[in-house]
Amino acid sequence: MDKLKDRIVRDGVAIGTEILKVDTFLNHQIDVDLFEEMGAEFRRRFGDVADRVDKILTVEASGIAVAAFTARAFGGVPVVFAKKEKPSTMDDEYYFSEVMSFTKRKLSAIRVAKKFLSAGDRCLIIDDFLAHGQAALGLLHICGQAGAEVLGCGIVIEKAFQGGGAKLREKGVRVESLAVVASIESGVIHFGDAAAPDAPAPGTPAP
Ligand code: 5GP
Repeated sequence: MDKLKDRIVRDGVAIGTEILKVDTFLNHQIDVDLFEEMGAEFRRRFGDVADRVDKILTVEASGIAVAAFTARAFGGVPVVFAKKEKPSTMDDEYYFSEVMSFTKRKLSAIRVAKKFLSAGDRCLIIDDFLAHGQAALGLLHICGQAGAEVLGCGIVIEKAFQGGGAKLREKGVRVESLAVVASIESGVIHFGDAAAPDAPAPGTPAP
């Protein structure tokens, strides 16, 4: 999605060779116009299964807004987000998976109350980033426990060099990423193709 890539180039800040900071429009401050377009783009890419999507599934916190705009583009289907802490209001009826947080470097549990995910539910997983695939694999694990079907996984920014996309695709999961980063070198963000991360398009320096 060219508009997203332009925005990453304009506002994204590379932190070392592994992390991309995009808090001006995605992770702290939100550009709702861009989010609306991203939701529409996911709807376009998953158009062949759009009428089968029962729920959008994500994980807090940054996935929620993307999921909400995407749900609107899919006709207002419910958004369910996995929680990273167990609130006192949550009873013991939940699905659970352990996930290593890439940015926080700690193991955490994600939980979805059983009443919000049922056998036969057809889900689209949506998240802001795909790095090593832990969050998405945790959500897949939770869908497996519920007997829910995963129609695909929609990602705003996939960092192909961290292998999460390859892991998911090897499992037969359909992954659609709006921007694919092939590498980050000396502050330069190289975009590429998820299927061929070794052949990046010429990059543009991040500010
Ligand atoms: P994964 O589980 O695929 O290793 O990492 C995905 C999760 O880690 C996302 O939900 C996102 O919150 C966070 N994450 C991974 N890489 C980045 C990054 O480069 N920048 C930011 N802001 N978050 C990231």
